[in-house]
Amino acid sequence: MHAYSLLAPAKINLYLEILGLRADGYHELAMILQSIDLADQIDLRPISTQTIQIHCDRPEVPQDKTNLAYRAAELMCEQFPERFAQFGGIEITITKQIPVAAGLAGGSTDGAAVLVGIDMMWQLGLTQPELQDLAAKLGSDVPFCIAGGTAIATGRGEKLDPLPNLDSLYLVLGKYRSLEVSTAWAYQTYRSQFGHTYIQDSVSLESRAHRVHSGSMVQAILNQNGLQVGQRLYNDLEKVVLPSYPQVLELREAFYNTGALGTMMSGSGPTVFALCESEKQAQEIQQQVRNEIPDPDLEFWVSRFCNQGIQVISPVS
Ligand code: ATP
Repeated sequence: MHAYSLLAPAKINLYLEILGLRADGYHELAMILQSIDLADQIDLRPISTQTIQIHCDRPEVPQDKTNLAYRAAELMCEQFPERFAQFGGIEITITKQIPVAAGLAGGSTDGAAVLVGIDMMWQLGLTQPELQDLAAKLGSDVPFCIAGGTAIATGRGEKLDPLPNLDSLYLVLGKYRSLEVSTAWAYQTYRSQFGHTYIQDSVSLESRAHRVHSGSMVQAILNQNGLQVGQRLYNDLEKVVLPSYPQVLELREAFYNTGALGTMMSGSGPTVFALCESEKQAQEIQQQVRNEIPDPDLEFWVSRFCNQGIQVISPVS
């Protein structure tokens, strides 16, 4: 059996609208998600004992059963017990590039990579929809991470409709190293402040979710118009995160004043990104904001939109 190395890209939200609350307690969302080439590396190696082992180079990432990569492997062992018995356990090594608890789906994409990698290791031949169904059991962002690219995501985020690639755009991301925002806190706070605006009946929810398909951001993507994409960035969670985290607000304002195509917080934050038409512009904007906020805790990454999700970089015999 082969060992596999995979690349697991981060995502940003170009659009995030909270529509209402579902009967299962999750929020009903309308999002447009975009993969970027900032990626973790996941190495999977067969081991002879019937165990799942996990290693990560970052101490802040849990190296136990709560790691999404571990949970993905556990799910595959439960779903395919005969393969687990036949092939034995798996050692997972995560080399993190994606900042943790940053609104970039770092854990979700690691989980997605483990599903794709084990499918190959155990020669299961799962289709993409089958992998996405398994992914939905792990978390709302995991199905998108499998195929990646540019997509509309509705429901909890697991109902996906692919959009044309937008891979000519660059971005600069900024995040304070020591600042984390809990996704659960962001949604709970939004609910307590804006719950009265939620759409209540399921027919109206569905028609509102459907409207994103003909909305202005989708039109900008179909037009391949980076400036329009930048102008139409939207994220409801900014309404609760920006007032509570002044550093994030300050960073967003600094990006806004640079002449980037647009700027927005990704997901539940605290990462803020600025869209750029070239790598050169992204580097200049990074320097400009670095000069304006010379805090050593503030980290930057220049990245590019990418049109795929999990990528296999090497099967090793
Ligand atoms: P999302 O955008 O999907 O809400 P996020 O990017 O904000 O997620 P993650 O990087 O996935 O956040 O981290 C959230 C928490 O998940 C971390 O604080 C960490 O304890 C836990 N976690 C579990 N597995 C992983 C993993 N493989 N990588 C990073 N964090 C993980």
